[in-house]
Amino acid sequence: MQVKVDIINPYVIEFVDGIKLDFSSKVALITSPKIYKLHKSRIDLKNYYLILIDDSEEGKNFKSINFILDKLFSFKFNRDSVLLALGGGVISDMVGFVASIYMRGIKFINIPTTLLAMVDASVGGKTGINSKFGKNLIGSFYQPQAVFIDISFLKTLKKDDFKNAFSEIIKLAIALDSDFFNFLSSVSIDDENLKQIIYKSVSIKADIVKKDEKEQNLRRVLNFGHTFAHAIELESEFKIPHCKAVAIGIKMALSFSLKLKFISKLEFDKIIELLKKFDIFYEYKIEDENRFYDMFLLDKKTKNSKINFILIGGVGKFKIVDFLKKDEILELLRDFK
Ligand code: NAD
Repeated sequence: MQVKVDIINPYVIEFVDGIKLDFSSKVALITSPKIYKLHKSRIDLKNYYLILIDDSEEGKNFKSINFILDKLFSFKFNRDSVLLALGGGVISDMVGFVASIYMRGIKFINIPTTLLAMVDASVGGKTGINSKFGKNLIGSFYQPQAVFIDISFLKTLKKDDFKNAFSEIIKLAIALDSDFFNFLSSVSIDDENLKQIIYKSVSIKADIVKKDEKEQNLRRVLNFGHTFAHAIELESEFKIPHCKAVAIGIKMALSFSLKLKFISKLEFDKIIELLKKFDIFYEYKIEDENRFYDMFLLDKKTKNSKINFILIGGVGKFKIVDFLKKDEILELLRDFK
């Protein structure tokens, strides 16, 4: 089973059972001590250089990038060498970024070990690190040579990390694909269905990325729930993790869509049911709607102080809304006080 990401530098996302690789060039496996300990037995690869890094959000910085670059220089890696990123989004974002700048670009292969990294970070070529001014502010668009998805890695994932990643999956169904929405509403999660769900998610994202690789227009739809999520992350000083904030953000986007009469109460309830089914229906109270509004303005995607909301006009039908005035937005936000 595979998905082709058909962009200028195309690559394939392949579903595998165990990672078996063979290279004629030098290869470095870059991962965290924890992931290496848990999963090295799933990697069938001879003669690799091992680089262990801190994969916390705090460690996603230039210090770690320099550490990896120094190792690569000391191992005498050249443009034929390959980097393997084994880990969640933090590892793949950092390794992808290093791959894009080491000797102006070397090959990298992505082996995601979290559900979020499988469905989201594995498609689209966004790489990067955090700055003291904000998350993911430094980076590049750089595509891997290939992505290998082995769902057995997910068995060791924390329960909350697993379930909250469904916010990114459900987001795609609500905004873009009603068949997928119906599928999610009817299935139970066993290994086979999980594979189908990941497959469908990467296919939907790959299709969007193909049409708008550099996020000029259509790709913004992938931000459904995210404008709110970023404000929630900031307001909570990052105590609420990203995927959980996205689940709350989806709920807020739904409530905006209902209030603006883009969707019926029946549709609203149907979508809320799906969030509940996946146990990602969370309560959240906005502390101060004016401050919350100001946080929208800090979003990278806000242009000329015009806040773009991705709302919906029915299941599978997104709407880009940029005409709401500040007073109207504040009024809608008061529902969450
Ligand atoms: P993560 O990389 O932050 O990892 C979370 C924790 O899970 C870490 O402690 C890690 O060691 C651990 N872990 C990873 N795999 C494990 C496994 N199989 N078993 C047990 N523990 C495991 O997790 P994430 O949610 O995948 O990534 C979040 C990051 O990804 C953020 O920095 C975000 O900005 C980035 N991201 C990037 C994109 C993109 O398109 N580039 C998309 C989404 C998120």
